[in-house]
Amino acid sequence: MTARLIDGRARAARLRAELAREVAQMRADKGVMPGLAVVLIGADPASGIYVRSKVRACEETGMRSDLHALSDSTSEAELLALIARLNGDPTVHGILVQLPLPPQIDRARVLAAISPDKDVDGFHPINAGRLATGQQALVPCTPRGCMMLLEEEIGDLRGLTACVIGCSPIVGRPMVQLLLHRDCSVLVAHKFTADPGALARQADILVVAAGVPGLVTSDWIRPGAVVIDVGINRITRPDGSSNIIGDVAEGAADLAAAITPVPGGVGPMTIACLLSNTLDAARAANPEAANSNAA
Ligand code: NAD
Repeated sequence: MTARLIDGRARAARLRAELAREVAQMRADKGVMPGLAVVLIGADPASGIYVRSKVRACEETGMRSDLHALSDSTSEAELLALIARLNGDPTVHGILVQLPLPPQIDRARVLAAISPDKDVDGFHPINAGRLATGQQALVPCTPRGCMMLLEEEIGDLRGLTACVIGCSPIVGRPMVQLLLHRDCSVLVAHKFTADPGALARQADILVVAAGVPGLVTSDWIRPGAVVIDVGINRITRPDGSSNIIGDVAEGAADLAAAITPVPGGVGPMTIACLLSNTLDAARAANPEAANSNAA
């Protein structure tokens, strides 16, 4: 038996088409164009690629996106001044500061300086607190995308056992919160967990976000489970060529019901959810512009 592949590209394309329609309606009816400000510091090639794909995705959806590319030597004070300006700009509905940041800049201070209402990455402590307490929040894009895939695959998650491997504030922790909100029983493993496989084996839903290539082997996966592989690991071969693999070993999920491929699973959903968060922030800032389809 081979697990069905969950097509994140197709799901993301549908979501983006839906968002493009809603953006067009908002612009036509209310004259509001959702706007995302993307801040890139330094010349890290991977960050540059991520940022360009986010900017392009915005434009394809009919949103405005302003790229603020700053040098590696930018001071924390300069970055905080830019964020303060963007916080006060009514045409900017979402602010994203691409991570990682250079060493002279304190990441926590910067993320906390972004207005929680424009925090489309969902990393601000206020949004983390709102999510943890079940209030309306801007939710981190990757776990939000994972939930959409799970809900489409399974439907009602109530009463299922989920296991999340990895508990970073960006992926694992918010994923745990979202699964709890859907009434799952949630097990969490991290790098100090003695036997993460023993937890994973109990799970109907296994979400893996450790950043360890091939971590999950077949004996971790309960037959019939739905597996979400969040890991993105670049493997470089001796000849210099490289490819991207996930945290689940090749062939390990043969007995699973379904699994997200890497690439083409969670990754495309992350960008689509960034667009969705930006539209949500624009709606919240312009309540009179909220259309009747608003969630
Ligand atoms: P992180 O390094 O911040 O956190 C990793 C987590 O995994 C930690 O909680 C750590 O304790 C746990 N962990 C590490 N080794 C482990 C082990 N051997 N057993 C069990 N747990 C272990 O990473 P992150 O930012 O949460 O990202 C995790 C992975 O997801 C990375 O590969 C990253 O590239 C990928 N990612 C993908 C997307 C996407 O859009 N698909 C988005 C964000 C992150």
